[in-house]
Amino acid sequence: MVFVISFSDSNPERVSKLIQRTFPRGGGDIPHHKEATDGKPIVVMPAPSIVVIPLQQHIGAPCEPVVAVGDKVKMGQMIGQSTKFISAPVHSSVSGQVLAVEERRLANGAKTMCVVIRNDGRDEMVAGEKHGDLRKISAAAIREAVKNAGIVGMGGAGFPTHVKLNPPKPVDTILINGAECEPYLTCDHRLMVEQAEQMVHGLFAIMKATGAAKGVIGIEANKPDAISQVQEAVAEYEQLSVAVLQVRYPQGAEKQLIKAILNREVPSGGLPHDVGCVVSNVHTAIAIYEALSAGKASYERVVTVSGGAVVDPRNLLVRVGTPIEELFKFCGGFLGEPEAVVCGGPMTGPPVQDLLGPVVKNLSGVLALSKEEAAFDENFPCIRCERCVRACPMGLTPNLLGEYSNKGLYRDAERLHLRDCIECSLCSYVCPAKRALVTWIKKGKAGLAAENAKEKVS
Ligand code: SF4
Ligand code: SF4
Repeated sequence: MVFVISFSDSNPERVSKLIQRTFPRGGGDIPHHKEATDGKPIVVMPAPSIVVIPLQQHIGAPCEPVVAVGDKVKMGQMIGQSTKFISAPVHSSVSGQVLAVEERRLANGAKTMCVVIRNDGRDEMVAGEKHGDLRKISAAAIREAVKNAGIVGMGGAGFPTHVKLNPPKPVDTILINGAECEPYLTCDHRLMVEQAEQMVHGLFAIMKATGAAKGVIGIEANKPDAISQVQEAVAEYEQLSVAVLQVRYPQGAEKQLIKAILNREVPSGGLPHDVGCVVSNVHTAIAIYEALSAGKASYERVVTVSGGAVVDPRNLLVRVGTPIEELFKFCGGFLGEPEAVVCGGPMTGPPVQDLLGPVVKNLSGVLALSKEEAAFDENFPCIRCERCVRACPMGLTPNLLGEYSNKGLYRDAERLHLRDCIECSLCSYVCPAKRALVTWIKKGKAGLAAENAKEKVS
């Protein structure tokens, strides 16, 4: 492909002159705010005295607890068992004693069953099964190891990875999504700089598990040091390449990434395997490598802690189950009262309702935003400027989708392809009238699903 280029150059000026691929429709420039953390190495945060580990940290069926109050557990020990195919087991992130198996509040305010464990500080680990040489492990064994390690999409989706590694259609290419186009987030950037080789080994495992012959790592051009490190890591493998992507939101959305790198269009309602590829996140690929090489379960992750209301923003390696409040404390606390606290990036992440909510496997960042960063504007009438229409990367009419959804006209919204909305929030961001388009669209999708369910029953 002419647009997948290979080079080794960490000079930002030269990188800016190289061919940069992108998606053809909509999109826009948004402020990045990544400078507070993109040059800072990942710091290991000490484990807290108590962890609260949710039994559902993934799309699909929740896990059944396999421990009880009073049980002693080790780090990496399975504490929640998956009973359905679309699910992923959950493991302890510390060694210690189970204090409770009960409902607790997550950061988004929802309640779910959790295992609460008092950390004994010994970090005693279970011995996981190691698979040293990738050439000697079968595709099925890779999928099994990934499943047993409880790996889910760590970029935010939380889809069980072992399911993704078993696509129902043939795939020829694996894309590693290193775009990280959300403002503030830099955890994937730092992982590519610090653990590029591990990511490449993870990519090879995904290729083997799916039967794909090629692998491409897509990275936005504002990460020249990551591009350089990854290029070095793939240099000796002719089946791998780096695609430099234009800095343009939402470049990291799955469909936009596939279009930019492979020039393939995922059909409405379709998935990447419908166009012969699988997309994986950077952190997920590294977790796969760790599961295979060290038998490590998914019980910790890198989280970007940033925003104008944080004293010392950083990227932290954090145990799953750590209260979010502890991350901010570790970063020096708040500069005054934050205007908003958000899980993930500010464009797509939900607000934090409870600071005691725990870190979960797919939490890429927590942001404490200052008043200047999180100004909530009044909602004015639409002025028919069509900026939202021009910005929409899915070619939709967000002004109408928002209006119909807000008025409960779900079938009208459906006719305008409501379900194709990827909830990137760009329409709301560019709207001069500050209309809450994406909030209404989400409401419309929920309303439509409820109407469909009702019709099915009657
Ligand atoms: S949130 Fe949906 S409607 Fe709005 S710009 Fe993104 S894809 Fe388009
Ligand atoms: S950008 Fe806002 S004001 Fe302009 S057409 Fe869309 S909804 Fe209306």
